[in-house]
Amino acid sequence: MNNKRIYLCLAHMSGREMDFVQEAFDTNWVVPLGPNVNGFEADLEAFVGEGKKVVALSAGTAAVHLALLACGVGPGDEVLVQSFTFCASSHPVTYLGATPVFVDSEPETWNMDPDLLETAIRDRIAKTGRAPKAIVPVALYGMPYRIDRILSVADRYGIPVVEDAAEGLGSRFDGQVLGTFGRYGVLSFNGNKMITTSGGGALICPDAAAKQEIMFYATQAREAYPYYQHERIGYNYRMSNICAGIGRGQMTVLDDHIAHHKKLQALYSALLAGVPGVTLHENPSPRYDSNFWLCTVTLSPELRVKGEDKAYAAAVQGAVGGAAGVTHAGGGVHTAHEPNRNVEALRMALDAAGIESRPLWKPMHLQPVYAAAPAYVNGVSEALFRTGLCLPSGPCVSEDDVRYIVQTIKDAIA
Ligand SMILES: *Cc1c(COP(=O)(O)O)cnc(C)c1O
Repeated sequence: MNNKRIYLCLAHMSGREMDFVQEAFDTNWVVPLGPNVNGFEADLEAFVGEGKKVVALSAGTAAVHLALLACGVGPGDEVLVQSFTFCASSHPVTYLGATPVFVDSEPETWNMDPDLLETAIRDRIAKTGRAPKAIVPVALYGMPYRIDRILSVADRYGIPVVEDAAEGLGSRFDGQVLGTFGRYGVLSFNGNKMITTSGGGALICPDAAAKQEIMFYATQAREAYPYYQHERIGYNYRMSNICAGIGRGQMTVLDDHIAHHKKLQALYSALLAGVPGVTLHENPSPRYDSNFWLCTVTLSPELRVKGEDKAYAAAVQGAVGGAAGVTHAGGGVHTAHEPNRNVEALRMALDAAGIESRPLWKPMHLQPVYAAAPAYVNGVSEALFRTGLCLPSGPCVSEDDVRYIVQTIKDAIA
């Protein structure tokens, strides 16, 4: 029996973070700029390569927001967003007064379907007379999207791509780091991501001029005068020098973290190989090199799991993931779209054994808040949501933990 609780993905410090944070205090750089911000950006630029420039920001959500702004997205515009994602990919579209148009996934990567993307573009042009302003594919759970095909569609219609690589830091397609293919690339350093700054994000930019423009909007759009002069609306989105100090410490273990996630994925793969009805999501071909931020499985609807009769018997207390203590009244037991009973029963069995797991992200086109948004769907993400579960990964999860998790899964099968 295991006594500690095993979480989905937790931050893990390198031991170097406090050196950089202490230096910020010692030199009185406790502000949203400074040597750690510059150093962290330089580390990230070296890591992603391709001659890209990086701006450190207060959150990945802020990075999505500013990338869309820089693509010229404004009121009345449309932006094509992968439906199978976390809400931070699409919410900033609405901050700008624009409308997200959701595009479903293809079954190999679980990410944006390039054929459906093209169908959506043609149909939006036919219906509105204008092309959407940007395309946002998402590296869900770290898995690379089919960026070669997405780029060729995007180029055909002259639409910029904003890669949401928030979950895919260090994932590669054809050996190239995600976030460096499109015009902009989004990274997140939230507490549960591949590395953390406690909270933070970054935007990968094509060149120094684009970086300058993003920094301008991230610091309240102050014009170059000896007094505050504002000719555009800006945001307070720069990363603090304290958070960047944590980031610099984390950069010293980024490669180790990625290697550990991949090692756990390989172990899940070996241990789950003989378990019928449980399918691990893997790289579809050697062109894809996921960081396996989270390891994910789908359950065959025929698989019977103990305790299915108790699934959805009681309302869950509190919101999922990182929102502890933030409860919003009015939650019931069921919604119009929910995971199959065997998935919920397995989640409960793992929970009872001290293991956190979580259904796959609920597609945005099924979210009530986006009921009015156009969507181009093929059933793939909806089926994945009904059948899938995220399993723990990350530097706080050991190989013994994975053995325990897989044994618990086997024991839960009826
Ligand atoms: C985490 C995440 C973001 C950005 O998140 P922040 O929490 O604001 O840093 C964006 N997109 C996806 C898909 C994410 O998972």
